[in-house]
Amino acid sequence: NPSTIAFIGLGNMGGPMAANLVKAGHAVIGFDLVAEALAQAEAAGVTIATDAAGAVAGADVVITMLPGGAHVLGAYRDGLLAAAAPGTLFIDSSTIDVDDARAAAALAVAAGHRAIDAPVSGGVVGATAATLTFMVGADDESFALAAPILQVMAGRVVHCGGSGAGQAAKVCNNMILGVSMIAVSEAFVLGEKLGLSNQALFDVASAASGQCWALTTNCPVPGPVPASPANRNYQPGFSGALMAKDLGLALNALQSNGVAAELGTLAASIYRTFADEGGASQDFSAIINTIRNNSNE
Ligand code: NAD
Repeated sequence: NPSTIAFIGLGNMGGPMAANLVKAGHAVIGFDLVAEALAQAEAAGVTIATDAAGAVAGADVVITMLPGGAHVLGAYRDGLLAAAAPGTLFIDSSTIDVDDARAAAALAVAAGHRAIDAPVSGGVVGATAATLTFMVGADDESFALAAPILQVMAGRVVHCGGSGAGQAAKVCNNMILGVSMIAVSEAFVLGEKLGLSNQALFDVASAASGQCWALTTNCPVPGPVPASPANRNYQPGFSGALMAKDLGLALNALQSNGVAAELGTLAASIYRTFADEGGASQDFSAIINTIRNNSNE
């Protein structure tokens, strides 16, 4: 059944996600603070509202795709929740702290709405191709209502548990990714020092116990995996800025839950420095260049 969907945050991810909802026959009313984002969404068939409250009045569903937790909580508090009809389904697909996600959902429920967290992986490519993986934190009823809408933008929709569970899954997955990319990169640099070719290490590790996504899909050296960002001078892909952001969220979660994760903690610091020192707009696999540069001749 076609729904009326308010879409708040029409940036790199939200723009193509909203466009896919339009293609599927939903009425999409969008809002963003940036004129360029609005113009692109309008060209894709999104009806543009003059403010966020105007977008949600009359909507059955409100999707937010914003930079961070402060933006989501701010938007919920500063008008979205008040402007929506009672019982509106709020879906936040931004990547934010687990605690912020639970706080946002609690605010929405207190205002008489339904609310779920549904962060994504798959990047701009997945948002455009409608092949995102959604990780959902929701009660069963809200999940059942949201699933057909998420499916339009998705390759996979996984119900991870109650409120916050989607963000929890996302932060845990990306901590694995951040740590494993550093491990793979360190191994390639060591191999180079030992006179091993990158291809030989790849051929062995990709078929042995070192196998992982950072090696076999996003390989940090050019050659073995032709589609990996290393082959196009580390154009993202998944940017160093986003990896630093996501590992910052992992670090918050590690600290507030007292988890003794030495590698996750170190990876957060390594990617923070990488992003601050020129890696923000490179693919995160360019961390291998930092490791190589920091190694002795
Ligand atoms: P983006 O910066 O391109 O888009 C965010 C948009 O939100 C911007 O257009 C901005 O103007 C708008 N915005 C900010 N505050 C607003 C407000 N109060 N009202 C209306 N609009 C507002 O970022 P993005 O790459 O689209 O990422 C969005 C979210 O998705 C982030 O949480 C990010 O971590 C997550 N994410 C991104 C990727 C990726 O590859 N880009 C992948 C997975 C998850």
